[in-house]
Amino acid sequence: MSEETLFTKIINGNIPAEILFEDDHCICIRDINPQAPTHVLVIPRKPLPRLVDATEDDKALLGHLMLKVGEIARELGIERAFRVVINNGESAGQTVFHLHLHILGNTTFDEGSLGIS
Ligand code: 5GP
Repeated sequence: MSEETLFTKIINGNIPAEILFEDDHCICIRDINPQAPTHVLVIPRKPLPRLVDATEDDKALLGHLMLKVGEIARELGIERAFRVVINNGESAGQTVFHLHLHILGNTTFDEGSLGIS
């Protein structure tokens, strides 16, 4: 059996984290090294290593995660301006190989910093 991921250890309560929300499918915690005044992670209980590892079977789960992002952003009061980031693969900056969505808010986003305007 493959080793438990860091996030599975957090989900199972074996590593402490500030849990903001949890349900049957996912958990939301504050990032330990925030890159914005509000920086939380939405993590599925299912330990998919990367977004590209999701399959048709994960369609409902992925939809659920996106809906939770919106709900959590409203709950945190950042619904007017936030970013959702998924790093897929080491070269893209992924360090924990258990799918997670970063929600970054309460910061000023530079116009066009994503190369789209
Ligand atoms: P990635 O770089 O894989 O997209 O994101 C992993 C994130 O997990 C990073 O933003 C990092 O700060 C966060 N992180 C790493 N270890 C811990 C931890 O033990 N607790 C919490 N709450 N966040 C963590």
